[in-house]
Amino acid sequence: MKTIGLLGGMSWESSVLYEELINTEVRSRLGGTHSADLLVKSYDFAAIEALQEAGDWDGAGALLSADAVRLVTAGAELIVLCTNTMHRVAPAIEEAIDVPFVHLGDATARAVVAQGLTTVGLLGTRFTMEAAFYRERLESHGLTVLTPSAEEQTVVHDIIYNELVRGELNRSSREEYLDIIDRLSAAGAEGVIAGCTEIELLVTEDDVFVPYFPTTEIHAQAAVDAALA
Ligand code: GLU
Repeated sequence: MKTIGLLGGMSWESSVLYEELINTEVRSRLGGTHSADLLVKSYDFAAIEALQEAGDWDGAGALLSADAVRLVTAGAELIVLCTNTMHRVAPAIEEAIDVPFVHLGDATARAVVAQGLTTVGLLGTRFTMEAAFYRERLESHGLTVLTPSAEEQTVVHDIIYNELVRGELNRSSREEYLDIIDRLSAAGAEGVIAGCTEIELLVTEDDVFVPYFPTTEIHAQAAVDAALA
């Protein structure tokens, strides 16, 4: 089993879930007392949010790349970046390291394609929904990506930053997400990607009546696949 380096804390609410999912999956595949071999760098999310708000993606890329290198130096044999949004700087990280980088967008796209879907709705932070990096990665797998209206994107984004990364789960916010998912479905989305690692803390597969793709779960599975390959 390879040592997995996690770049987490973005936010810790979701990277705790990453650790739990990865450990649970390793135990189920290897049995006995097995658990994952992890090295974790967990950020103060306020510092990451400040870089995002300043649009300092170069600075964010430099920070995450340097820490990916530190994880590799410490023994990580593959790197997992525990956030959709910060995959915007994935190319900088991939360039800095000489071990595999388990790309969340690729893992998610493969999960969608495996279900035979071609058009998918995307929920995430404003950065993830608006910018090209995420949509284009999904499109490179042959998918068509639908995003919510500008007004709905603000709702989705604000719930992430004002509630989910702060550990708040509100029923009214879940209802707002479900209404937006319904509208994406009515607009032609055959399934919906929870393209932010905290969303699945609020909205689970059981809440949604279309195929639902929780990225933390999908990415954690891909990490274990790579660690046990
Ligand atoms: N964890 C979230 C994501 O998957 C949002 C927080 C962040 O900006 O990293 O995009």
